[in-house]
Amino acid sequence: MLNNQGRPTQPANNNEASSRRRETFTGNRGLQQEEGLIFEFGRAEVSGVDIDEPAQFKPRLGKFERKTPLGLPGLSEPEAVRHYVRLSQKNYSIDAGLYPLGSCTMKHNPRLNEKMARLPGFSDVHPLQPQSTVQGAIELIDELEKWLLELTGMSAVAMSPKAGAHGEACGMMAIKAAHEARGEGKSRHIVIVPDSAHGTNPATAALIGYTVRAVPARADGTVSAQAVREALGPDVAAIMLTNPNTCGLFEKEIVEIAKAVHEAGAYFYCDGANFNAIMGKVRPGDLGIDAMHINLHKTFSTPHGGGGPGAGPVVLSQALAPYAPLPVLGVDKTTLPGKSFTCLIEQEPELAGTARKPFGRMTAFHGQMGMYVRALSYMLSHGADGLKQASEDAVLNANYVRARLSDIMSLPFGDKPCMHEVLFDDKWLKDTGVTTLDFAKAMIDEGYHPMTMYFPLVVHGAMLIEPTESESLASLELFIMTLRDLAFGVLRGETERFTQAPRLAPRRRLDETAAARNPILRWTKPEAISVAAE
Ligand SMILES: *Cc1c(COP(=O)(O)O)cnc(C)c1O
Repeated sequence: MLNNQGRPTQPANNNEASSRRRETFTGNRGLQQEEGLIFEFGRAEVSGVDIDEPAQFKPRLGKFERKTPLGLPGLSEPEAVRHYVRLSQKNYSIDAGLYPLGSCTMKHNPRLNEKMARLPGFSDVHPLQPQSTVQGAIELIDELEKWLLELTGMSAVAMSPKAGAHGEACGMMAIKAAHEARGEGKSRHIVIVPDSAHGTNPATAALIGYTVRAVPARADGTVSAQAVREALGPDVAAIMLTNPNTCGLFEKEIVEIAKAVHEAGAYFYCDGANFNAIMGKVRPGDLGIDAMHINLHKTFSTPHGGGGPGAGPVVLSQALAPYAPLPVLGVDKTTLPGKSFTCLIEQEPELAGTARKPFGRMTAFHGQMGMYVRALSYMLSHGADGLKQASEDAVLNANYVRARLSDIMSLPFGDKPCMHEVLFDDKWLKDTGVTTLDFAKAMIDEGYHPMTMYFPLVVHGAMLIEPTESESLASLELFIMTLRDLAFGVLRGETERFTQAPRLAPRRRLDETAAARNPILRWTKPEAISVAAE
């Protein structure tokens, strides 16, 4: 018998044995344990704690007392521990292996950062605590601000956005506020976005109420100043451009683009998610950028991607600085007589003589303290020279992967150097019966998280590989050899190795489209179904 999740409920008898689809009775594969849903094996009558009903217990809920059972699956303590440990073992993580997911900068998170973030003075503070009691934490935010401004050459930074996309919203709201202050809030309703942009860019522009005007990338994968000039006009509020861009290329005409944008009365938003390739090498402020978010979780290493929080501080040019959201760092002289504190100010203080006009605030509190600590810990432990070397090594590693694979996999923009990530397309897969998706799934069987696929959209069947600086030569070599072995497999016609992949993962190929279009979000009690009836 199988339940409707396909799990056997009894040993197979002689007749059933041959029809059983599973490789093992338990579904385990050696020491890789199968794990059911908690609802399948939890029992309402069981719990990890064993507390007697108090004597003379009188329910006080009256008519609100629950009549039907709660129906939550109960587990004993060891069952609960095993459930979550087994689930955790199904995760792939940067701590388990190389994670070449392009655009995401999945690099090693130094343990020192974690140790610092767990210091009680940072981890145990409450956002409503009096500021005089959390001076160290506020000082750390101040210090981090200085580093971010130093690294980017910008005038101000808004610390509170909680992710890259949230930072984009923050920067675009500052831009909107600046146009409104000039009386051009209504007339400037267009935001220019290149068609290679990360999806969050046009989504942010639309969310803030702008209409997106796309500019195409050139055949070499970059945006030309000429194309931007043609798209500019008195109706344009801003351009959102990623640099290095999502094809892993530095936008060579960026200074000219910034100049054209400013001449047209618009602002330049730069998506700074790829700062990992240029930190310590180029200051965005010197390129003419007005606003840029920095994904602290990418460039300055915090576990991310389903594994932890993000933080997306936004650096702003002098023109946009007055519109930065609250809170801002300032000096509070009122807390105790005769003492002044660095503090987070909620009102609208002066900014070096000019009035601040904050557009509002992004979050209820001040942002992600743990991430600030990790980012500063990363910066201080690397130092200025170390940060620069991290960028250089990130670029070197990506180019090493490119150079070692370009004889077999195809490069859309010719065999020339890339920045911190290398983009292949699927020309080399033509007529092999293997797609980018199949190739990526076969990487799972080899124990690798796939690279980013089908992004950016400007390249057919894109495979975007970002090794990051934290991989050793040996680990890069094994990764490259694995991809070469797979690629030769494609060319030898071992199609099933790809179209049937993953064969060794806890689950085989899923119908991801059906899962997204028709998600089954509610568990229903399984009915036993007999194998014979299948
Ligand atoms: C990661 C990324 C973002 C979004 O950042 P989140 O922190 O995930 O919101 C935006 N643009 C690019 C190019 C990115 O790589």
